[in-house]
Amino acid sequence: MILPNDFIDELKIVLGDDTDKYITLFEEAPFRGISVNRLKTTPEQLFSMLPFEPEQSPFYSDSFYLPENAENIGQMPLHHAGAFYVQEPSAASAVSLLDIHNGDIVLDLCAAPGGKTSQIASMLGGSGLIWSNEVVKSRASILLSNSERMGITHGVISSCDPEVLCSRLSGYFDKVLVDAPCSGEGMFRKNHSAISEWSREHALACADRQLAILDSAAKALKCGGTMVYSTCTFNYDENEGVVKRFLECHGDFEPLEISHTAARKAFVGNGIRITPVEGGEGHFAAVFRKNGDSDTNIKYYKYPLINKEQKKLVQKFIEDIFVVSPELVPVIIGDKLYLMPDGLPDMGRLGVIRSGIFAGTVTKNRIDPEHALFSCAKPEQLCRVLDLPPDDQRISDFLRGFEIDCDGSGYTGVAVGGIMLGFGKCSGGRLKNKYPKGLRKNS
Ligand code: SAM
Repeated sequence: MILPNDFIDELKIVLGDDTDKYITLFEEAPFRGISVNRLKTTPEQLFSMLPFEPEQSPFYSDSFYLPENAENIGQMPLHHAGAFYVQEPSAASAVSLLDIHNGDIVLDLCAAPGGKTSQIASMLGGSGLIWSNEVVKSRASILLSNSERMGITHGVISSCDPEVLCSRLSGYFDKVLVDAPCSGEGMFRKNHSAISEWSREHALACADRQLAILDSAAKALKCGGTMVYSTCTFNYDENEGVVKRFLECHGDFEPLEISHTAARKAFVGNGIRITPVEGGEGHFAAVFRKNGDSDTNIKYYKYPLINKEQKKLVQKFIEDIFVVSPELVPVIIGDKLYLMPDGLPDMGRLGVIRSGIFAGTVTKNRIDPEHALFSCAKPEQLCRVLDLPPDDQRISDFLRGFEIDCDGSGYTGVAVGGIMLGFGKCSGGRLKNKYPKGLRKNS
């Protein structure tokens, strides 16, 4: 594969003497990695069940390189269970710079397919809120599916124009991530065909779009809050150029120092850049703090009240499934029961496609549970669980949509190695499969 001369000229601006190293590395296999999802597991628990040994990445404590013999990881039951997200290690660097604490309210403004949303949720550990927005509708549904797989409870997913969202939720977020659409130079080793789409003009157009998204994002951030800007490109105009232009127009924002010894320092705004020379496919990140006094005027969501009968129905539904009830607010909209985190802002006309979890479908005198309710549970919270090792034939059968053997009766969670995968309904020694058709394995 021949790299365009224009691209190499631009690369020299940021890599200098290391440009030749990059060109040599270009022909080598790309780095692959996973980020462990602490909503579901720990690295120790996960690695004890993997048939290969992941290696710690220097860019994020829960990110690991995959060895060559790690094959078909997207097909593994532990992947279906959301124990990890397939994420190249340098892509995991940006979230580690957000300095997330329990209870933080976080916006992931360009969120699909959901790698960084998953990392943020993992760090929040089921507290606070992760609001994940993806302007492209078709990609927002992939984001939703991944959020359910990762077992995110304290989340909102929307598909909204960033300017509309950030103006309405002005000053609401403690942390904001802008992982912006870019010219994708960090994807070139993995996807050679992306090179043909590259041009200097495209990179410059991306830079203008990135600046517009950052301008919107700045509104959503609380004073005293932290914002991270990241891309998966090396390009100076899209990285340093955008940071410089942003800081020139936003005197209330200050770039923060990053102490990432494994990354190379960017030329402007204390940013960092990771290239194959540093052990990642390609990422840029810069961190800003917003100074000044808070001025937010958030309207909060009015949780629709449920009537006495609905309350009884919900209580029976929860008690039938859980020994420990989820600490979320039940909300019935139409025939759907959601369990939502408390304290949400008004979500009207913001393209919200999910808030909290879709727990069940309400019929006349009962509620039928949904997959997401079990995906976000812990086995010890449930009344009935069939917990099987990853190599048990019943796990493979369950993932393919078949009935499997099961004792007891009633709605029963199915877990793989202690990590919730889905559920079914047990009766007469068999578990009727409720794993969603769209998620099932074909072979
Ligand atoms: N953060 C994601 C993750 O970790 O999985 C990857 C995000 S990707 C680099 C950038 C996203 O921005 C894409 O999903 C793309 O659809 C979205 N996007 C495209 N145009 C946009 C715009 N004008 N404003 C906001 N987001 C946009």
